[in-house]
Amino acid sequence: MYNKNINKYIGMDRTKCLVIGSGPAGYTAAIYASRANLSPVLIEGMQPGGQLTQTTVIENFPGFPQGITGPELMENMRQQAVNVGADVRSGSVVEVDFETAPYKITLDDGNIVEADTVIVATGAAAKYLGLSDEIKYQGMGVSACATCDGFFYRKKIVAVVGGGDTACEEANYLASLAAKVYLIVRKPFLRASKAMQDRTLNNPKIEVLFEHNTEGLFGEDGVEGIHLVSRKGEADEKHYDLAIDGFFLAIGHKPNSDIFKKYLKTDETGYFVPSDASGVKTLVPGVFVAGDVADPHYRQAINAAASGCRAAMEAERFLSHK
Ligand code: NDP
Repeated sequence: MYNKNINKYIGMDRTKCLVIGSGPAGYTAAIYASRANLSPVLIEGMQPGGQLTQTTVIENFPGFPQGITGPELMENMRQQAVNVGADVRSGSVVEVDFETAPYKITLDDGNIVEADTVIVATGAAAKYLGLSDEIKYQGMGVSACATCDGFFYRKKIVAVVGGGDTACEEANYLASLAAKVYLIVRKPFLRASKAMQDRTLNNPKIEVLFEHNTEGLFGEDGVEGIHLVSRKGEADEKHYDLAIDGFFLAIGHKPNSDIFKKYLKTDETGYFVPSDASGVKTLVPGVFVAGDVADPHYRQAINAAASGCRAAMEAERFLSHK
């Protein structure tokens, strides 16, 4: 272990490379930055290990022929980052000052880290409806990622909530595995693109339930059904239950970009917009973005890891050109 990366100033640390976030993007960035002798400091954030710690078995991350659990994969990445010399710290970033380098990053314990380069890999969080049953059945039939968990519902009955492109895409993906897919849409129409709507409405395995809302879930040791209400607030409002095995949320994601918006460009949803084709550079010299917080489309661990690698390589190039 060699954690000589921090030069202690009075009340202030200094590093060549600060990585913010501990998902696949953050840990991969820390591994590459360490091996490039940047001696990175990584701040884990509020959910150490990121979104994958909430999934069960991951079968689509290369290198694990028998699959691996999300928490295990993330612990492996963390350990690998530590083994190559990254200084992994618990805590969250509450404020950044990217006005002039070295950049100042304030942590929730009040400490400030000064950094020559910063890799922002703060991820995104799937939106949930806010039902207590979503927490109760998390990992037991409730998921916000069909690509991650759909495989477990082969020949079963599932429901997807949402009416956008993600919901339609996930419903179609699940229809290729499951026996039946209910798509629960709160409005009387889909918001998805026309092509995606057509694909969804013409899929014989998908039944779209327009003007429906979810009131709760039920089941003994996992999800066995859903409490629904149709045409809520109308004269013909109806409450009823459906038997399902899996409940998938697809009502959007919220990128964790709020505290950076003063300095880094975001789209209307809050995803970072990289400044060039590298996909990781920003208009602030030495500040890079990686992972889901800059990826509105793919949102896969392998993509996040790849962009973490790119961000660290760009940080190294940036410093060596200086
Ligand atoms: P969107 O914001 O487009 O859609 C969210 C959907 O969830 C809407 O139908 C919305 O309903 C519904 N919703 C939101 N909150 C609730 C709630 N509390 N209860 C019930 N339903 C709710 O998010 P997406 O993730 O689908 O897409 C994000 C962006 O990514 C879009 O720009 C999309 O086009 C793009 N995308 C593109 C893809 C592609 O091109 N292949 C694939 C996936 C995404 P309502 O309409 O009533 O607001």
